[in-house]
Amino acid sequence: MLPDEVMKEAYREFLDYAGSGMSVMELNHRSVLFNEIIDKAKEDLKTLLAIPDNYKILFLQGGASLQFAAVPMNIMRNHKAGFIMTGHWTKRAYEEAKKYGDAIELASSADRNYCYIPDCNNLPISDDIDYVHICENNTIYGTRFTQLPDTFGKAIVSDMSSCILSEPIDVSKYGLIFAGAQKNMGPAGATIVIIREDLIRDDVMDCTPSVMKYKNQLDNNSRFNTPPCYSIYMCGKVFQWLKRIGGLSAMKEINRKKAALVYSYLDESKLFHGTVDREFRSMANATFTTGDDDLDMVFVEESKKAGFVGLKGHRFVGGLRASLYNAIPVENVEALVRYMKEFEVEHMGEGL
Ligand SMILES: *Cc1c(COP(=O)(O)O)cnc(C)c1O
Repeated sequence: MLPDEVMKEAYREFLDYAGSGMSVMELNHRSVLFNEIIDKAKEDLKTLLAIPDNYKILFLQGGASLQFAAVPMNIMRNHKAGFIMTGHWTKRAYEEAKKYGDAIELASSADRNYCYIPDCNNLPISDDIDYVHICENNTIYGTRFTQLPDTFGKAIVSDMSSCILSEPIDVSKYGLIFAGAQKNMGPAGATIVIIREDLIRDDVMDCTPSVMKYKNQLDNNSRFNTPPCYSIYMCGKVFQWLKRIGGLSAMKEINRKKAALVYSYLDESKLFHGTVDREFRSMANATFTTGDDDLDMVFVEESKKAGFVGLKGHRFVGGLRASLYNAIPVENVEALVRYMKEFEVEHMGEGL
């Protein structure tokens, strides 16, 4: 979901952006107008996340998944990286990194189907590890890191695709942050990379495609080739919306409220129950189940008729999932909880 205001603004500007007589879709990516769009988006993102000056922002293509390859190609100098395995997306990143060097599993929560975040205080981090990869919010399983792992000074690479801009973070604790736009920032297309300057190198792996070399994209202000212009424009509008509502602390309060509504109901419900350990519950993706696959499916179907979409759990885990991304209003979550309560009354005694 994207904020209503943002969609309406884009609608108004759709055929004629800033008096140009053209849609943003039709602008040249090197035009003055698009320059302004990308520079403003960058500046607003920098303000929102309080990104220090020694970090660079790139707007790229290829989604978070391409970063699973781009990161090792660009910053795996010793050909060794550590991974905290917390679900599907870290598995994918790990498999990809293995093509370019040693990918080392430092910790994992696979033993209990990723329903928690493993202890990251005494990780077996060797001196020659280039970085430690984490997925900060596990979209599919519904867990999140509540504190960053102790990496003994090694750079943290964080996949923040499903939690970026949901709350303030201390960017200086990371080496690199990446996120696909489509969950919390804008329409699919753009991928944001925030990278500490010293990690941007010229001597990347020989196999690195030129468009994937951070240095090339940095030197060309994210336009080594044509960027996903429209997606960047929409992300820029979302950044402005976030600034208008009071920035990321305000956003966090709203997200906290939404998560609390769902989880406090899950804790009292006799039909539904949450599927992850309490202390690691995601603020963005609440996963739950009735314990009965058939009844879960009934809920998916009936809730659809009542106007709720996307409550089916990810195809890899089943069950149910409510995504509470930034643009979802508190009222929608209140309505969902009301609906779940009604469903519970109707189906009392059916779950497991
Ligand atoms: C959705 C998601 C991805 C995949 O993003 P793409 O842009 O489709 O490559 C990766 N990581 C996380 C945490 C996600 O939620």
